[in-house]
Formats: sequence, C-alpha cells, structure tokens
Amino acid sequence: ETIGRYFDAACARYAAHDALVVRHQNVRLSYTELKLKVDALACSLIRLGLKPGERIGIWSQNNLEWTLTQFATAKAGLVLVNINPAYRRAELEYALNKVGCRALILSPAFKSSDYLEMLTDLAPELATCTPGALRSERLPALETVIRMGEVQSHGMLNFDTLLSAPSLPELQALEALGETLQFDDPINIQFTSGTTGNPKGATLSHHNILNNGFFVAEAIGLSEADRLCIPVPLYHCFGMVMGNLGCLTHGATMVYPSEAFEPLAALETLAEEHCTAMYGVPTMFIAVLDHPRFGEFDVSTLRTGIMAGSPCPTEVMKRVVDKMNMGEVTIAYGMTETSPVSFQSGRDDPLDRRVSTVGRVQPHCEVKIVDTDGRIVPRGTPGELCTRGYSVMLGYWGDEAKTREAIDAAGWMHTGDIATIDDEGYCNIVGRIKDMVIRGGENIYPREIEEFLYRHPKIVDVQVVGVPDQKYGEALCAWIILREGESMTEDEVRRFCQGQIAHYKIPAYIRFTDSFPMTVTGKIQKFQIRERMKQELG
Ligand code: ATP
Ligand code: MG
Repeated sequence: ETIGRYFDAACARYAAHDALVVRHQNVRLSYTELKLKVDALACSLIRLGLKPGERIGIWSQNNLEWTLTQFATAKAGLVLVNINPAYRRAELEYALNKVGCRALILSPAFKSSDYLEMLTDLAPELATCTPGALRSERLPALETVIRMGEVQSHGMLNFDTLLSAPSLPELQALEALGETLQFDDPINIQFTSGTTGNPKGATLSHHNILNNGFFVAEAIGLSEADRLCIPVPLYHCFGMVMGNLGCLTHGATMVYPSEAFEPLAALETLAEEHCTAMYGVPTMFIAVLDHPRFGEFDVSTLRTGIMAGSPCPTEVMKRVVDKMNMGEVTIAYGMTETSPVSFQSGRDDPLDRRVSTVGRVQPHCEVKIVDTDGRIVPRGTPGELCTRGYSVMLGYWGDEAKTREAIDAAGWMHTGDIATIDDEGYCNIVGRIKDMVIRGGENIYPREIEEFLYRHPKIVDVQVVGVPDQKYGEALCAWIILREGESMTEDEVRRFCQGQIAHYKIPAYIRFTDSFPMTVTGKIQKFQIRERMKQELG
C-alpha cells in the first residue's frame, strides 16, 4: 500500500483520537484534524506545480510542520528529502544539488543558527525573485522556498498560507492522484547519520518504510491506548518511520517534547502527557536518568519503548527498566538503508535477552553473518552482518557505484557492522568494522571494554577508540565522562581493569572529558575522537 492511501484509512479509523501533540508549539490534533491539514498542504504543493517523483527538501528540527510535510508529500507522491538540521551552508548546497530539490521547506528562525542567512548566501536571488520562480546559479534545481513561521523574505512562500482550505475539485484531484501512485515508488531520501564519515542519501519506497514502521510498533504492542514520547529527530528514520509511521499504523499518539532533544523537556512530557512509551538513543536515556530533577517527575505511566541507534549498554537498559518503569522496553538494531530496523527484541523475550541483545530478526527479513571472504560463519562467531528483504532501500540516490558496494547482486545489504547470532537467533552487535581495533595482531572490539568500564560507579559514559601506535600498530584510548562531582585518576582506571580484562585490552591512553563529539541524531562520532587523539599524540 502507499503511505497516502494508508494515511487516509488510518485517519478515518482513528478519527477523534489524539494523533499528535507538539508541546513546544502548543498543538494538539486528532487524526481527523491532522488529515484536514495534511490534505490542505498536499493540495497546495500540487497547486505549486510539484509533480510525483520530484524532490522536495525539508530543513528543520522537530515540529508540527515537519509531520504535516511528511504526510502531505507522501499523498502528493513527492520524494521528501530529509535535510540534517546540523548542516551548514556547504552541506546544504551539496544535499540540494545532489538530489535536485525543486522545492525546500525551511525551518523557522532558531535561537542558535540562522538557516535563512545560509540559504540566502547561496541564493541571493531570493531577495528579488517572485515566490516559486527562483533562478539561482548555485542551486540550479531549486525554484520554490517555503518558510515556516512568521519571518518573511521577498521570494519565499509562507508555510501557513499553504494550509488554507482547498476547493472540492482540488481534493478530488488529490484523491485521483493518490490512486495512480505505486507502493514501490521512491518516497523519501534520508541521509545516514554521518557517524563514520560523510552522510549518504538512501532512497526509500512507501513499501520500505510503511512496513518497517508497522513491524517496529507491532513488536512493542503499540495501540490506541499508547502515547509515544518522540524526542528523537524526525529528520532521521528513528523519528519519522519508527515514531510517526509506527503511531499511524497503530492509532497511537505522537508526542514531541521539543525541537531538539532536551532532557528536562522529555521528563516534563513523560509526566504531564502520561506517556506510555518513549524512544531514544542511549545517550538520551542516560541524560534523562541522570538529570538532577529526575526524581521530581512521575513517569509511572511508562510501560515500553525502544532504545536503538548505537550500542545500548546493559547497565543503562537495566536502569531504564528499574527507574523509568519501562519493564517492556526493547532494543532495536537497524540502519537508514534498511528503513531502518532489521532486529528487535520482543516484549515476550526474557529480560536478560531483552537488555543484552538486539533480539531476533524482524518478520520477512533474512540475515546472514559472513567472514571477510563472504562465507557464512558458524553460530556464535563474529562476522559482517548482511540483511535482505522488503526493507532494503532502493539505493543511494544518484550513486550507482556506492549502491553496488552496499547491496550485492543477490540483494544482500552489507551493513558494515560486526555481529554474532546465537543458537536461539538472538543477535549481538559487536561493533562496526570501521571501529575495530587491531593491536599487535589481536582483534579488539571497543564495545567490550566500554561495557566493562560502565560498571565502575564513578563512570557515566565511556568511548574506546584505536589510535596509531608505533609498536603495536594501534593502541587503545578511552574517553571517560565521570558522574557529577566525582574525580578519578588514570591509575584508578587501570587498577580497575587489572586482572579483570586481558592486559592488551587495558587502554594505553585515558582521558577525562565532559562530552563527546556527536551527530545531531545523538550518536557519538568516534572518528572525531580518533582525529583529536591523533593530533594530540602528534
Ligand atoms: P554513517 O553510515 O553515515 O556513518 P550511521 O551508520 O550511524 O552513519 P545510521 O543509518 O543512522 O547511520 O545508523 C545505523 C548504524 O547505527 C548501524 O549500522 C549500527 O552501527 C548502529 N546501530 C544502530 N542500532 C544499534 C544497536 N541497537 N546497537 C548497536 N549499534 C547500533
Ligand atoms: Mg551507516
């Protein structure tokens, strides 16, 4: 099914039920109200001359407009291009030109970054052109810029004016158009997080992401009774697929606490909106649990949620179960290129498996684990995880070569992650191929050392990377964040390791820090830590 047709059916079915709560904009919409706005926006986009298959970018943090755009573009058959809110001018130019965006929806003015300024730097013609008729030298495909919020510039359209009620013939035309769309048409281009380098643009179909949203929500038993707190970014599949589409397919309520993740806003939202579920990457859960005011909020309505996106430490999962009341919480593993989830623990899995593995493979997906020669390894042996099935992307937009590198002729997606699968099918993500450290011929998975160091009561968060070393080829380096008010010496860390882990796994370099370099999705960029250490060590 297409997302547009599914959306209409869901809105009819859940009609008066709460669809969306946007706390920072003071917005509350039922499914019926959501559909009215989405249809109005879809009609306006068609009126602007945008045709099925054409690309429309959105450059914004989480808000009402984002979600209206997601569903309106799906109904109009446009390919939505999620543009990372952390991008600066050069990256914006690259992304818009790479996929040839004909239109761009621009966020409201933000406190810290001026998106408008960056855009008008690239396209000064915006100051004088007629709205919808931009001709810019540096952004040749871009014709229409739509601005959220009140600030207006000459050549831009205002988002709110696109929400005025459409005429009956327009609505009929929208419906007729919807019938012509195919379930395997491209509908979305998402850039990967950029954890290991430059983000890549994955092209996804209705079929890819609608089904993934459905199965992810199914695994945590989402229903009309659920209110899901979504502090993860909408520009990423975690928010727009697992969050928004997961709610749509199960009639649950999408609740956004803030534009970008803030632990206090998340806590207030959990308590005041009586949320029953929450999504987050591990760093978000850690920030919520460690917030000085955590104890003031009643989060007892919580029952479930998903931790995903990067390694989920068992200790953190346990605290989520004990202190946040999320007894049914699950871990998911996936990547943008697979819509995203391919493994998820189930509600019925035993707690120890649920907090320590990423669960079993999703329905309708196949997996295998291979060695460097592409041969399937015995159970329990680490190797590269490969996945195949409905959820594998159509390809990287405009990049045949990269697509072929990632998806082989038999349809297997090579994830670049190292994993093991046990006899019962539970999967453990051991690390990324790119993060593996080879010290004097020993393969070391930093994850294992991180898990060990987490157990120290003074340590809140830790990242282990490999740095170049004259003698061993690579040496281990740990960056450690301490609990507030605590202090620790390098020697103390080493003494803690001695006799507990193999001597070659004890980090040679230990650094204490307040924060890690992160992507806007909240993931830690180990390549940045490596770069900084390389500079420091000369
Ligand atoms: P890039 O591909 O641009 O370097 P990225 O891989 O982080 O960035 P995403 O597609 O957002 O971009 O993230 C997918 C990756 O996140 C996976 O390949 C995996 O390494 C990691 N990941 C996701 N979920 C988990 C999990 N539950 N446990 C461990 N790692 C995870
Ligand atoms: Mg990746």
